[in-house]
Amino acid sequence: MKNVKCKMQNAKYHLRCLECGNIIPDRYTNTCPEGHDSLLRTVYNRKRIRRLSGRGMFNYIDWLPVEEMLPVNTNPITYKSEEFGKELGLENLYVSFSGYWPEKGVFMKTCTFKELEALPTLLRAKERAGEEILVVASAGNTSRAFAEVSSLTGMPVVAIVPRSCIYRMWTTMEPENHASIFLITVDGDYSDAIATSKEIANKPLQGFRGQRGGAPLIGGLIEEGGVRNVARRDGMGVVELEAAFFMKVLPDYYFQAVGSGTGAIAAWETFIRLIEDERFGRKMPRMVISQNLPFAPMVSAWQDGRAEIIADKDMRNADDAIKEMYADVLSTRNPPYSIKGGVYDMLMNTNGKVYGITNEECKEAEKLFESEEGIDLDPAASVAVASLIKALEEGYVKKKATILLNVTGGGYKRLKKEFAMYKIEERMEIKSNSLGQLPLDEIERELKEFVQAL
Ligand SMILES: *Cc1c(COP(=O)(O)O)cnc(C)c1O
Ligand SMILES: [Zn+2]
Repeated sequence: MKNVKCKMQNAKYHLRCLECGNIIPDRYTNTCPEGHDSLLRTVYNRKRIRRLSGRGMFNYIDWLPVEEMLPVNTNPITYKSEEFGKELGLENLYVSFSGYWPEKGVFMKTCTFKELEALPTLLRAKERAGEEILVVASAGNTSRAFAEVSSLTGMPVVAIVPRSCIYRMWTTMEPENHASIFLITVDGDYSDAIATSKEIANKPLQGFRGQRGGAPLIGGLIEEGGVRNVARRDGMGVVELEAAFFMKVLPDYYFQAVGSGTGAIAAWETFIRLIEDERFGRKMPRMVISQNLPFAPMVSAWQDGRAEIIADKDMRNADDAIKEMYADVLSTRNPPYSIKGGVYDMLMNTNGKVYGITNEECKEAEKLFESEEGIDLDPAASVAVASLIKALEEGYVKKKATILLNVTGGGYKRLKKEFAMYKIEERMEIKSNSLGQLPLDEIERELKEFVQAL
């Protein structure tokens, strides 16, 4: 026991359960050992963050749950918008951009802020979970980010995506670098991909062993953790850190499109830390989040004043609604809305607001932003842009207010001018009739082959 204590005192951070307040040392721990339905939050020893230079997002390593750094130039940028801001009559509009836009000094080749999640998550897994291989499910953008980082670093990943999203699975690295990516496609949507990943990571393949570089692989597969994974949240928090150092002050309003809401929770947590830092002001920004109609469960629950999502009320005809969405990466069916420290708590604590955005509004906003700022947007980012326009039209936001608009993805067209996009080949496809009763023997066999070839 003494030993553990000593170790914890030396650690640069520990985890804290928001329900019981217990301090938990990080062993790739994503849930409270007491079983609470609560997020764990990172507590960093250093309250006043340093900004290093020349290390991409690891400039902010003080507030990332990792010990080492990876040599990358991944970092979001913040700039003060002139053209688009003027168009809207805003004097203090700041844009945070995650994507590929070399003219602005941002080089994220997976074109979304998911890259900020993938880097520290893979590193934390390596540092804290030993030789276990991460299993990641997504509608595409997350898996692509993990795939790119995997092919860059050789850290292996099992990626699971709906077949309809496979066009999002590419990297800028040539196919011979894809050996560390095991891509599985699933008939169905994002939720089916998540269910499949849970089943694969949790049950029957435990004890699965292979060889990696001559060393035995112990442990097998491990669920990445989604919103519960502090590396994902603190990685995305770099957006707000970069913004705070650029703006010198916290914004009055923060705008972001949400699917799960993980990015917005991350922003809120980072603002809490920045307020404790004391150099950026004391006022918590109002969190303004947006979803793409007709599938917007959190909009529906929040407008109804509920802390719970009720499927019959908030997600009627979900399959059809999701198919209609312009920004289908936002189609999360089980977002961390009610969980302690989740989206509902965030909205309550920040006097926040929620907008539902139609495809029409989305496309119109996208056109305006692209023509004024000169960069193409991810459809999800267009949802956020549209929500800002809507908030102004409603008079919710004053023109003099200081606003941070999180443009979570973009620059695909810009990237294509310089780079080829190499498709990632799927290693397995899971048919809809085997959902719920996976061909585990076959999966195990294929995975063994994959691990042995690493
Ligand atoms: C995933 C994603 C979002 C939504 O992020 P969540 O953390 O799931 O709410 C927004 N924009 C882009 C470009 C994304 O890829
Ligand atoms: Zn607890």
